[in-house]
Amino acid sequence: MTRPLPAAPATATPDVLDEIVKRPQAVATVDAKPSLLGLTRDKLAFALSSIGVEDRHIRMRVNQLWHWMYLRGVADFASMTNVSKDLRAKLAEHFVVGRPELVAEQISVDGTRKWLFRFPSRGAGRPVEVETVYIPEEGRGTLCVSSQVGCSLTCSFCHTGTQVMVRNLTAEEIVSQVVVARERLCDFPAAEKAEGALPAEGRLVTNIVMMGMGEPLMNYEPVRDALLIFADGDGLSLSKRRITLSTSGVVPLIPRIGAETGVMLAISLHAVRDDLRDVLVPINKKYKLAELLQACRDYPGLSNARRITFEYVMLKGVNDSPADARELVRLLRGIPAKINLIPFNAWPGSAYECPDWDTIEAFAEIVNRAGYASPIRTPRGRDILAACGQLKSASERLKVAERLALEAMMASGGDDD
Ligand code: SAH
Ligand code: SF4
Repeated sequence: MTRPLPAAPATATPDVLDEIVKRPQAVATVDAKPSLLGLTRDKLAFALSSIGVEDRHIRMRVNQLWHWMYLRGVADFASMTNVSKDLRAKLAEHFVVGRPELVAEQISVDGTRKWLFRFPSRGAGRPVEVETVYIPEEGRGTLCVSSQVGCSLTCSFCHTGTQVMVRNLTAEEIVSQVVVARERLCDFPAAEKAEGALPAEGRLVTNIVMMGMGEPLMNYEPVRDALLIFADGDGLSLSKRRITLSTSGVVPLIPRIGAETGVMLAISLHAVRDDLRDVLVPINKKYKLAELLQACRDYPGLSNARRITFEYVMLKGVNDSPADARELVRLLRGIPAKINLIPFNAWPGSAYECPDWDTIEAFAEIVNRAGYASPIRTPRGRDILAACGQLKSASERLKVAERLALEAMMASGGDDD
């Protein structure tokens, strides 16, 4: 199913951005053959055993496949030249190295890229679509990956939260977002360049954040398996310190994900009092602030070099007062923490506004004085609607009028810069 898209221009003016590459392809169907992408080493070993690979060869074969799929980024068995011809034929008979359908690729004037992937429905209904965002910065490149289509948690300021929860993504679908993004960025150093993909001028995927659509801890096992694949040193090889899982606070699973993966944690805090957090982040009704912060204190492996990131979306007149800032600092005392203030990204119909810049700065100043450096997150990729909370699914595509309203809001700069 891999079809490299034609090369897109390296820079683009805002008026052509929307349609840089947008070519819907055939409707995605579930491949008749299972994919080997996204299987943990154990599951891959089991798959090989199921087609008759002898036990004494399994480890070597797993290593070979791992190398080709994740280090070299190849998408077919034929290219796996150190695997015997017979086995390659057998693998191709039973499996695929799955690639999702890539529906669109957009490149922002600031270099941010956004991809729209289409996955099969895997059940009744239509195929689903999710977005993945690449954010290049000085010395690093961050990929923002989705874990679900929609989200069941209904945070009141989040556009994804207004959408119906369609389904969880599989580990294969989560991993394939990273693999295809790296393909498009020519970021498999050992691979031949994917036809038509753009060289990314030295910028590579150095960090992964599970901050796209969905609540990763509500899709626990596929997310965990994907994180372990990202961190595997013989494949995609991202340092665990450069992989961050963001959660709105599914407290019972926080220690488990820490113990099983060792990745970094980000908490979508957004309020310093339970009554307000109950409204903004309704899972707070189930797991209160005190419980959440205790799970943070107990998170394995914390130190000054391995801190938890606390995300705090700034909402005008709701959670943006100096008293809120002081309480935030007080609550986090004793936890190795970074604070990330996110100017609210507006979407049509949302009940909130972004505070003016002076209010955000006054808040940041209090946080700064308490020893937290550069806490304000700069919005990126605004011209291609790639900012937090703006990723969407095909099931709830913006109506044309809404989209125009949102673009007008973005073009006028809104309140947040
Ligand atoms: N479900 C997870 C991860 C996805 S959301 C979580 O909630 O942590 C990633 C981040 O974007 C979260 O901190 C979320 O609160 C924030 N976010 C959502 N909508 C936003 C918006 N409209 N403006 C700014 N940030 C938003
Ligand atoms: Fe879901 Fe996160 Fe949005 Fe809340 S902020 S609705 S948990 S995606």
